[in-house]
Order: sequence, then C-alpha cells, then structure tokens
Amino acid sequence: MRIESVTPIFVDRYLFVEIRTDTGLVGLGESGAWGFQEGTAATVERFAEYLVGQDPLKIEHHWQYLYRWTHFRGSVVMGAVSAIDIALWDIAGKHFETPVHQLLGGKVRDRARVYYHVFGETTDELCEGIAAARGEGYTAVGHLTPFVDAPRDESYFETHVRKIENAAASVARYREVAGTDVDLCIEIHRRLAPYEAVQLGLAIQEYTPLFLEDPVLPDNIDEMAYVASKINIPIATGERYTSHWEFQMLLARGGAQMVRPDVCLVGGITGARKIAAIAEASHVGVVPHNPLSPVSTAACLQIAATAPNFVLQEFPNETWGSAGDMRPDPAKLVTGAALHDGEGFVHISDEPGIGVALQADAEQRYPYRKRQILTRLHVDGSVVDQ
Ligand SMILES: [Mg+2]
Repeated sequence: MRIESVTPIFVDRYLFVEIRTDTGLVGLGESGAWGFQEGTAATVERFAEYLVGQDPLKIEHHWQYLYRWTHFRGSVVMGAVSAIDIALWDIAGKHFETPVHQLLGGKVRDRARVYYHVFGETTDELCEGIAAARGEGYTAVGHLTPFVDAPRDESYFETHVRKIENAAASVARYREVAGTDVDLCIEIHRRLAPYEAVQLGLAIQEYTPLFLEDPVLPDNIDEMAYVASKINIPIATGERYTSHWEFQMLLARGGAQMVRPDVCLVGGITGARKIAAIAEASHVGVVPHNPLSPVSTAACLQIAATAPNFVLQEFPNETWGSAGDMRPDPAKLVTGAALHDGEGFVHISDEPGIGVALQADAEQRYPYRKRQILTRLHVDGSVVDQ
C-alpha cells in the first residue's frame, strides 16, 4: 500500500488533511494550529513531497522523519505533522478493519466524560450556561472564565482589587448555580501574571474547581510551577505546547496536575499517546484540549479510550463563542460525529480508524473563514492578554 495524495482542506475555520492510498483508503486528520491555517496548509503540501509513494503504515517512522528533517519545531510544523499523523492512524485502522484504539492496546473505558463549553458576555449569561448544561445532563463545564470578556477592540483598564475580587465573586456564583452536580473547570486563558494567579487561586479554592486552566502565559514553565506550588487547585495546562518533550519538562518541575495536550498540535495520536504515558508515570490526569471539529474530537477519543489516566474530554458546543456565530453542524460536516449521551459522557466509536469521515460537500457548504488578527489593548496602548 502506498500514499497517493496528501491534501489540505479548508472548511469554515478548520483545516483538515485528507490522505489517499493506492488501495482506495482515505484517512482524515485535522490541524490544531488554528491561528496559522494557511502556513500549516503550505507545510502539509511541503510534507506531501516526501509522503507520496511511502507506505502509510510506517506512522512512527514518518513522524520522526518529518519532525527531525530540520528540527525547526513549533506550532505550524507540528500542526501539519499532527494532521498527517491522525490521517495515517485513520488509514491504519481502516486497513486492519479495526478502531485506532484497538491498535493502541484496546479500550480501558467505553465512554468518555466530557465538559461542555460555557460562553457568555456577562456573568449572568455564564450562569445561565452552567444551568443549561446541568439541565442537559453534563457533569462538568469548562471554558468558564471568571472574567467577563469585553470585545477586543475595547481598551482595557481594571484596578487590581476589582480584577481579583470580581473574579472570585463570579466563581462563587458559578458554584451556587452548579451545586455539587457539576464540576467547574476555570479557564484563565493565560491572562494573569504569576502574582495575580496566586491571589485569585487562593481566593477561589474554597469553591473546589476541578482545575485552574492556563493561569499564566505558557512561555516559562517555572512560573506555572510557582503558581501550582502556591495554591490548592490542580493546574491544567499544555494546550499551546507542541511536543512530548515540553510536557516532560513541565511535569519534571511540578507545573501541572492535569495535562492538556491538543492531539492536533502535539504530533497527533502518536504524540498525545506519549504525553499520556509520561503523565501516567506521575499520576497526572489527561484532559485532551479540543476546541475544534468533530475530527479532533474523534482523535481525542482514541486517547480517552486508551489512557488509564484520562480525566475529562473538552467537548465544544454549537457556537464559536458568541450567539449567532455558529459552527458547522457536526452531522453536515462529517459522518460519525460523537454525540453527548445525556449523562455527561460521549460514546467511544468502534468504527474502523478514528470513526469519522468528511461529508463530500463540506467544503462547499462551509467555505473557509479566515480569523481576524485582533488582540486587546490597555488604555495606555500596550498589549493585554485576554
Ligand atoms: Mg484552554
């Protein structure tokens, strides 16, 4: 069996990669470097020069070959490697007529607990989102910020005391609405300095969040470890890391109690499996990052199926974050999309490969939408992390 073609496909805000073989098999993958879809697609086309004519079953070898060709690393390279890796695993599953999780050693669970995205422009809307998720049977909510996100074209100013105290008051309200039926995954989106993150963490730990996600920027692992050492809430981080080597350094410094590998960014199923194993060796939980399409969800579920230390799966809702900005309908985008079972879990598919296939008309139905480059500024004109 040989690889015949490797094709990047833009659909809505997603970048997929389709790999076809001379035996008629089609593998599907997705890139997680969503800020740089065009650059990633160009990298996929470059990698195709090597991949066409190769045996698609030599997955680890191709991963090593592409990654170590020039050692440039980083998100664009790894978004491309990841999408290719997922598509190759999909082909392997179809070739052997078995789900990918069977090739990885078999399922350790039949369904994966998920957390639902909660969005809102006010604390009231976020509380309504928690109540709605609870009503639908979810047992965990995430993407749940204690900060109300103003539009990015509005300049920012807040006193320190209001910033921390309002955020803590919001988390208190979230707990009131959630009760003890729903776990809170508090998402900071890298917006705090370490000293702020410690103060906020200490102020909200009485509400027992399941984790505090990305309290500080991902650049300096020691800062994440400092925050983790000062507060009594598990730190979850890793969605911007691009390799298992970075996760190893994070865990060696005690920087996280839960890791958040993005299967579409850390080298696909191959990379994410290694990260789950490194985390397992430290009794650290795995919460795969998954803000993208049902293809990403299907790839994540291979990790959920096989990692003993899996905790929770991010499961996007139907919008891109604001009312009316809808994502493609999963059923019109792919066949085999994972669905919420009404009890806070999604079923893990036993279909061959990763279990999803792109609908033939997806590209026409959902034309590519480029993301605008826009970040928030402080009232003094400097860049703010939001
Ligand atoms: Mg996040």
